[in-house]
Amino acid sequence: MRHIIHAATPPRSIVAAYRAQPHPLNPGNAWDDFDSTELREHLWELQHGLCAYCERALNVGPGTSSIEHIVPKTANPQVTFQYTNLVWCCLDQNTCNLHKKGQHFAGCDAAGRWSQGFIAPTQERCETSFTYERDGSVNPSQAADEPDATQTLRILNLNHQPLKTERLDYLLAVDIAIDSMADQLDAIVLYLTAELALGSLKPFFSAKHQHFSLTA
Ligand SMILES: [Zn+2]
Repeated sequence: MRHIIHAATPPRSIVAAYRAQPHPLNPGNAWDDFDSTELREHLWELQHGLCAYCERALNVGPGTSSIEHIVPKTANPQVTFQYTNLVWCCLDQNTCNLHKKGQHFAGCDAAGRWSQGFIAPTQERCETSFTYERDGSVNPSQAADEPDATQTLRILNLNHQPLKTERLDYLLAVDIAIDSMADQLDAIVLYLTAELALGSLKPFFSAKHQHFSLTA
């Protein structure tokens, strides 16, 4: 999970929507009526084209990705148009947004902020809570927030077997590419620089960064 930092200046459309409906009576309908085109373009750039949770490359085609309310809007209508509660997610039926759905976090307070039970990508230092293993799985990495990290992985189902396999295969493919360059150090540096860069639409940013820091 990569730390996503929202912009100081949100897109105008979400600001206007929040002003018009800070606490919608029917969050689902209100959200359905919102034209998210500008927000999608904004989040695409903010997240460098990767799902906020699984870090697979987002597909921009119709019905293949969605804007996710980190704190669920149904039970917390006041966060429906709260810019910092919004990230862009893949639409895998078995992981991320669609697996999480409206699950409530143990620590949601009256303002809709989480305090425990879920580690969000908007949370500072969230990347330190997870360890990406060499078999493609991801596990809690520190005792301090192990229960929250465990619950987060369960809610998002980030160890769903096809996702684990995809993650592992990608890491192996990077390893194989590097091996094929033998001792061509310049080529390896160029390749890795491109592979690890944000904005390259290359998936599994966090897993790769941990993988290569561990093997360095
Ligand atoms: Zn995802």
